[in-house]
Amino acid sequence: MDIKSKEFRKQAHQFVDWMADYMDNVEDYPVKSQVLPKEIYNQIEDNIPSQGEDIETIFDDFKKIIMPGITHWQSPNFFAYFPANTSPPSILAEMLTATLGVQGMKWDTSPASTELEERMTEWFKNALGIPKNWTGVIQDSASSATLASILTAREQKSHYKINQEGFKGFTNFRVYCSEETHSSIEKGTKIAGIGKENVIKIKTDNVLRMRPDLLLQSIKQDIENGYQPLCIIAAIGTTGTTAIDPLNEIAEIAEKFNIWLHVDAAYAGSVLLLPEYQNLIKGIEKADSFVFNPHKWLFTNFDCSIYFVKDKNALVNTFEVLPEYLKTNTDGMVSNHCDWGIPLGRRFRSLKLWFVMRYYGLEELQNKLRYHIELAKWLENEIVKSTNFKLVVPRNINLVCFHFKPQGFSDIEELNKINEVLLQKLNDTGKIYLTHTKVKGTYTLRMSIGQTNVNQNHIKEAWKLITNKAMEII
Ligand SMILES: *Cc1c(COP(=O)(O)O)cnc(C)c1O
Repeated sequence: MDIKSKEFRKQAHQFVDWMADYMDNVEDYPVKSQVLPKEIYNQIEDNIPSQGEDIETIFDDFKKIIMPGITHWQSPNFFAYFPANTSPPSILAEMLTATLGVQGMKWDTSPASTELEERMTEWFKNALGIPKNWTGVIQDSASSATLASILTAREQKSHYKINQEGFKGFTNFRVYCSEETHSSIEKGTKIAGIGKENVIKIKTDNVLRMRPDLLLQSIKQDIENGYQPLCIIAAIGTTGTTAIDPLNEIAEIAEKFNIWLHVDAAYAGSVLLLPEYQNLIKGIEKADSFVFNPHKWLFTNFDCSIYFVKDKNALVNTFEVLPEYLKTNTDGMVSNHCDWGIPLGRRFRSLKLWFVMRYYGLEELQNKLRYHIELAKWLENEIVKSTNFKLVVPRNINLVCFHFKPQGFSDIEELNKINEVLLQKLNDTGKIYLTHTKVKGTYTLRMSIGQTNVNQNHIKEAWKLITNKAMEII
C-alpha cells in the first residue's frame, strides 16, 4: 500500500496548510510543553503496528499526542537557551532535501551537494571575516566540529601516529579552555582519548572571559611537569552568558607555544556578519579552526554547523579512509566531505543555507540581527532602571543575564531560591520560556532574544510578566 503520488500531493498540501497555520498560531501554544514525564510515552503503542495505517490517522495522532509534548522553539516568546530559529525559505529547502533524500558523502554521490557546500562555506568565510586561506565544511553540530578539531590537533601533533598505532608514547596531552566553555569541549576531549582530567579549565575575569595570564601560567607549569599542551579552545560567546574570550591575546600564546587553537563561536558567530563586531575575532589568523552554527541564530533549520580549518590537509589526513566500496574515479580531483568529519553519510545541508541567504540577502539578515540586539538593549535598559532587578553581567550581543534582587534582600542563598521560584512560575504560565545559569554562584535568569519573528511587543510583554510574577513572590 505505497502512497501513490496523487495521494501524496493531496496529503502534502494538507500538511503545508497545517505548517502555515502553525506559523500563524504558534503563540497560542504554551511555549514550554506542560506535559509530565511519561505522558507522551504512555500514549504510544508498545510495538510496531502489524498492519499499515493511513497518513490521516497518523497525522491525527501527531496533533493529538505529539503536539502537547512540543516545546515551541519557534515561538517569539521563546527566550530559553539559545534560539534554534528557522524561517520559511529554510523550511521549504528542507522539504526539497527530504524529497531528494541525498547522501552527500562523496562528490560522486551528488556533486551538487558537495559543490554547493563549497560555495556556501566560501560565502560565509568572506562574510564572517575568516582568513582567505582557510577551508570550510558543514558539520551536523558544533559538538562534532569541536571533536573533529581536537582529533585533528591530536593527529597533527603526533604526526598521525595515534591514528596508526594508538596512544603509544602519547599520554600527556593537555587541553585548555575557560571555566565557562561549553560541555562539548569536555565531551570531545573524552572521546578523543585524552581524558577529562587533562582538560584544564582556566579561571575567568569578572565578566567571565578567560584570563590569558592564567592560561600562560598553566601552560608553562604543565610543560615543566612534562605535559604536552595540545589545544586551546577560545569561546566567542559562551553558552552561559555569551562572554567573549580575548582571542588575540590567547592566539599569541598559542602561536608562541605552537598549540592548536580552536574558536568556538557556535552561537555568537552570526554577529560577525555585522562589521561593527568584527573586532571580536581580532587574531583569528593565528588560530587553526573555527565553528559557528547557522542553526542557532541565523534562521536555518537544525542541523547546520559550519566548521573552518586553516590546514585542510591536516583535517583530511585525520579522517580519510578509503575502503574499496567507496573508491571512485574522481578521488583526488574533488572534495569528498565524508573525509572531513566523523559520519560517513551526510545530509544535503547547504541547500537550506543557499535558500536562506538568497531569500533575505546579507543586508536584511544584518538588519534582523541588529534589531534583536536593539531589543536586548531595551530590556537591559529596563533592568538597569528598575529598583528590584539587577544585571548579573553586562549584556553582550543579544543575551540579557539578570536576577530579581528586591530591596532589603542580600543573602545570596535566599536570592537564588527566589529566582529559582520566579523562573518556575514564569515558565509555568506557558506565556514565555526562559532558562538559567549560575554566574559565580548567583542564580541568573537568561533571556536570549533571537527568534525570527520576535518584536518589541513580545519583549515588553515578557518584561511586564517578569515584574508582575516577581512581585507575587515577595
Ligand atoms: C550551542 C553551543 C555548542 C553546541 O552546539 P551543538 O551544535 O548543539 O553541538 C557549543 N558551544 C557553544 C558556545 C554553544 O553555544
